[in-house]
Amino acid sequence: MILSWFLLALLLIFIAVILIRAALFRAGDHKSGSFAVASDLPAYQPTEAAGRFAELIRCRTIHPEKAGEEWLPNDYSEFVRFRKLLEKFYPLVHQKMKWELVNKHSLLYHWPGQNSEQPLVLMAHYDVVPAEDELWSHSPFSGEIIEDQVWGRGSLDTKCTLFGIMEAAEALLKDGFTPKKDLYLAFGHDEETMGAGAPAIVELLKSRSIRPAMVLDEGGAIIEGVFPGIKQPIAVVGLTEKGLTDIEVMLEGSGGHASTPDRINPLAVMSKVILQLDKKPFPASMPVEVKEMFAVLGKQMPFGLRIVFANLWCFKPLLMAALPLIGREMNALCRTTCVFTIAEASKAANVIPDRVRVVANLRLAATENCDQALAYVSEQALQATSRARQAKDPLKLSVKRLYGHDASPSTSSDSAAYKKLVEVIDSVFKNVLVTPYIMLGASDSRHFCAICDQVLRFSPLKMSKEELRSIHGINERISFDQLGGVVAFYYNLVRGS
Ligand SMILES: [Zn+2]
Repeated sequence: MILSWFLLALLLIFIAVILIRAALFRAGDHKSGSFAVASDLPAYQPTEAAGRFAELIRCRTIHPEKAGEEWLPNDYSEFVRFRKLLEKFYPLVHQKMKWELVNKHSLLYHWPGQNSEQPLVLMAHYDVVPAEDELWSHSPFSGEIIEDQVWGRGSLDTKCTLFGIMEAAEALLKDGFTPKKDLYLAFGHDEETMGAGAPAIVELLKSRSIRPAMVLDEGGAIIEGVFPGIKQPIAVVGLTEKGLTDIEVMLEGSGGHASTPDRINPLAVMSKVILQLDKKPFPASMPVEVKEMFAVLGKQMPFGLRIVFANLWCFKPLLMAALPLIGREMNALCRTTCVFTIAEASKAANVIPDRVRVVANLRLAATENCDQALAYVSEQALQATSRARQAKDPLKLSVKRLYGHDASPSTSSDSAAYKKLVEVIDSVFKNVLVTPYIMLGASDSRHFCAICDQVLRFSPLKMSKEELRSIHGINERISFDQLGGVVAFYYNLVRGS
């Protein structure tokens, strides 16, 4: 009897602690009100600016894909045309800054400030991914302007940030502005194909002993309706980005005619490998960036959800287990993901393949490096194929890495660069929550981690779910308001640096 009273008392204390913690877990500066872009850009004409932007969109700056180990020959005339337009639209930038081509087509501008210590690097890339014309409502390279929107491939990824940087710099130069610190503008030409442009810029800066205090590239954006119970737009700033590796798994056997199949079919065995990795994903963990994100966003959530986020000491295991159900983004933030994207086997319906080849694309959390990921996939493949490898007519298994880079080092949310970025976001975009996060894709900025401790990934524009899907998809476009916000953001960032 005494024991049950004791247990009941413990339970009541536990519930009280959880509820009190949830009640205290509230944001001091509760953001409400409508989203707005505050711009004090002098003489910015949205229609004229959009006209310039549309001309940049019309350049088909598609970088060639790698074919085997060879780069396909490409005519770079569209890249040259793009650069000529930059010279035409931004004459002061090209007069007052030192600029050069790196690795033939990447661009590096140097704007000397009052002080060459602790420079700022603003990045973008001007290559774009291909687009299937017939699927679009307006041709992807037409640069059509319809109802205050500029249509076209690269309008969001990421000619818009390059444009914003250039418009802001030209406007500031027109005012006779000199930045306090040196500024570098680094525009890659082959980001989408993981090319050598950005690494070459990093090597060049390194050879000149330049160590930037802050690097800003594309990455997070201002998003809405993604987190439960939060109505405000949220600016997610990438403090780090996940690594990436492609792993090939191959099974080789003797094949044969489909009329007399062996009991062991290499295709069936390979499907076991795929299912095994599906059933046994990489372990989940909660990285510091996600904890910080929960600390910001959790406080804005309704009371029911705040109970969970205020008491992660108790609910974390439950949250981790429920990750795949919460959503694919949340799942990807907390673990290394592995998905098979290529499968090759027989070319004819009546031929048993003598070789089955699949490729998995893995996005690496900081918890696994490329070698550990390869070891994990190999281990699972070995387990799934053990019988087939020991059969009378055995299959031969090989697992190899085709490509790989680890997750980037993380920038602290306590850093001067992050605080500066929050300040500039607040100065331009009203009623926006700012939170750290992990960039799930890969960007050129990772190369700059070799020369800078404060690398951030953020594109200053609000994007709907549909707009996010249009990146590398169809009907990519940007509104005049979004473009104006991008320009205003870089204007305030440079002016305050
Ligand atoms: Zn991009």
